[in-house]
Amino acid sequence: MKSFELYEPTTVSEAVSLLDKFGATGKVLGGGSDLVTGVMKDWVQGKGMPYPQQLVDLTTIKELSGIKVGSDGAHIGATTTLTDIIESKDLQQQVPLLTAAAASVASPLIRNFGTLGGNINQRPRCWFFRGENFNCYKKGGDFCYAVTGDNRYHAIIGGELCYIVHPSDTSTALLALNATAKVAGPGGVRDVPFDQYFIGPREDVLRENILKPNEVLTEVFIPAPAAGTKMGWTKLKDRQVYDFALTSVAVVFTANGATWSDGRVVLGGVSPVPYRAKVVEDAIKGKDIKSSISAAAAQIRTVARPMSLNAYKVDIAQGLVERTVLQALG
Ligand SMILES: Cc1cc2nc3c(=O)[nH]c(=O)nc-3n(C[C@H](O)[C@H](O)[C@H](O)COP(=O)(O)OP(=O)(O)OC[C@H]3O[C@@H](n4cnc5c(N)ncnc54)[C@H](O)[C@@H]3O)c2cc1C
Repeated sequence: MKSFELYEPTTVSEAVSLLDKFGATGKVLGGGSDLVTGVMKDWVQGKGMPYPQQLVDLTTIKELSGIKVGSDGAHIGATTTLTDIIESKDLQQQVPLLTAAAASVASPLIRNFGTLGGNINQRPRCWFFRGENFNCYKKGGDFCYAVTGDNRYHAIIGGELCYIVHPSDTSTALLALNATAKVAGPGGVRDVPFDQYFIGPREDVLRENILKPNEVLTEVFIPAPAAGTKMGWTKLKDRQVYDFALTSVAVVFTANGATWSDGRVVLGGVSPVPYRAKVVEDAIKGKDIKSSISAAAAQIRTVARPMSLNAYKVDIAQGLVERTVLQALG
C-alpha cells in the first residue's frame, strides 16, 4: 500500500476546502473499511481513478455523528456507525426497514466502525473492477470484462457499458424510504433525494453517484412514514456468514384494507444503481395485494436483461419481491 496524507478537519467547511484543494487525489474517509482496506490495499486504480494521496477524515467532525428522530422523520449524520443505527430504539420503531438492512451489512466488527456515509458511497465489488490486472471502463479503461468473463454476480437490469451492481444495503432501504441526502460542497449545502442521488454508467461510468470530488454527504433525512405504513427487507446471499446481496428487496407501502394504495419496491444487487421497480409498483397499485402480487412480481422479467451466467438472479428477484411484500403485509 502506498503512503498517504491524513487530514482531520473539525468542521464541514474545512473538509470541503481540503477536498477542493486536493482534487481527484483527495478522498473522503469514513471508517475506511472500503476505501483503505479495500480500494487502496488492493491497488484499485487507473487512468480515470488516481490512487488516493490525501484522505480527509470526517469522523473528527463531531456534528456529523448522531441520530435525531422526531415527528417529521429521522436525521442521521453521515459518520454515524451502522451499529449505532441498528441499536437505535427510535429508528427500530420508526424505520425498521433501515435497521434491518443495516444489520444485514458485513460483520459486527465492520458495522462497529463502518459509517452510513461510507456504506452509501462505497465502490462496487465487481471482481474485475477490484482486480489489479483489469483496466475496465470504471477505472478509465475501454472494456467491461464482465461481458465476456464470469458475470454470475453482475447486473441483470440497467447494465450497459459497465455491469456492476450497487453493493450498498442501506442505499436500497433508503431509496424505498424516500430519503434525502444532504450534500455539502464549496457552493453550499443542497438536498438531493435518493431518487436522484445514484447514477448509472451511461451518465458517468467513473462514479456511482452525483457527488463531485469536493463534495461530502453530511446527513440523511428519512421522512416519517404515514401511520400504518408497512415495510420489509429481504437479502439473499451466497452464504450465511457476511456477504454482499445476490439480490435484496426493500418494500414500503400503505394499504387500504387488502388493497395496495401507494408504495415503493426497490431491489439491490441487480443493477448499477439501487433499482426502483416501478413496473412492479404500477402492476400492484389499487389492487388486492395477496391475489395480485405474484403477477406484479413477474413484471421484473419485462425489464431484466441477464448476461450469460446470471439469469438465475431474475428468478430470485421475482421470488423475493413476492415474498417480501407478503411478509410485510403480515
Ligand atoms: C468483508 C466486507 C463485507 C462487506 N459486506 C457488506 C454488505 O454485506 N453490505 C454492504 O452494504 N456493505 C458491505 N461491505 C461494505 C461496508 O459495509 C462498507 O465498507 C462500510 O459500511 C463503509 O463504511 P466506511 O465508513 O468504512 O467507508 P469508507 O471505506 O471510509 O468509505 C467508503 C467510500 O465512501 C466514501 N465516503 C465515505 N463517507 C462519505 C461521505 N460522508 N460523503 C462522501 N463520500 C463518503 C469514501 O471516499 C469511499 O470511497 C462490506 C465490507 C467488507 C470489508
